[in-house]
Amino acid sequence: MTILVVGSVAFDRITTPFGTAERCLGGSATYFSVAASFFTEVNLVAVVGDDFTDKDAAIFSGRKINLDGLQKVKGAKTFFWAGEYDFDLNVAKTRDTQLNVFADFKPTLNAVQRKSEVVFLANIDPQLQMDVLHQCQQPKLVALDTMNYWITSKKDSLTKIFGQVDLIVINEAEVRQYTEEPNLVKGARQILALGAKTLVIKRGEYGVLMITRAAVFAVPAYPLENVFDPTGAGDTFAGGLLGYLASRGAHDERELRRAVEKFSLDRLREITLADVQERYRAFRTLTEFEDYS
Ligand code: AMP
Repeated sequence: MTILVVGSVAFDRITTPFGTAERCLGGSATYFSVAASFFTEVNLVAVVGDDFTDKDAAIFSGRKINLDGLQKVKGAKTFFWAGEYDFDLNVAKTRDTQLNVFADFKPTLNAVQRKSEVVFLANIDPQLQMDVLHQCQQPKLVALDTMNYWITSKKDSLTKIFGQVDLIVINEAEVRQYTEEPNLVKGARQILALGAKTLVIKRGEYGVLMITRAAVFAVPAYPLENVFDPTGAGDTFAGGLLGYLASRGAHDERELRRAVEKFSLDRLREITLADVQERYRAFRTLTEFEDYS
């Protein structure tokens, strides 16, 4: 199954306790596409300005990523985000968001894009997520991610689209912010009541909690010793999750559990599918234990 993704392609300025990196290639759809393309074909829908060079676009080349839906607007600037982390790398503080070309991006999907079986509405304006979703013809699985910026500025649109997707990928602070409920499980239930079947809650270095109407499933994150920049980890995780589900052609509870376990990495430029499989094996041993008898 192919995946359609709409979301940001961006330049980021990232500050961590280890230093500042200017003009890094970023964006929710960028990380997602690269990660998902390890597993299946991805149709990317996004927009950039003419400051986005061929060198920047090279991140997508040689991968199963179709760029027909990546528009370039002359005389305009690419989405810009400045984020900062303290020693607690779980929490990103937004220092600046400039929507630029995304402020009035209204894509029209072509026939191939409309037929995508899996749709990922990566973090971007919920109104744009809705416009894209409504052009798709009966996708089998629709998933969505968002962030505090849109919860604050577009809560009504977000509430509408929460009710129209199957799976929501969201981080724990966003569940609390959206629901104003301190307990994560209760908050998750409130969001599920809007219509989605599954909520995958990202908890940074502590892993992921998957909540459905019937079950709760928890997995830790693989403990990494060297983390310099956590930006994109959530989108990369979503790319692995959806890419895996699309490659299996199913999203029942069993596949969802395997998909949630499957992916946790960065270094996206260098890694291969063999590296992903190796990490998966290491991850299995991290969480395996015997029955108590
Ligand atoms: P993550 O660390 O996975 O939550 O995603 C970080 C990426 O999201 C960065 O590369 C940013 O360019 C992008 N981003 C930040 N703010 C927004 C926003 N309001 N809408 C869409 N993308 C954003």
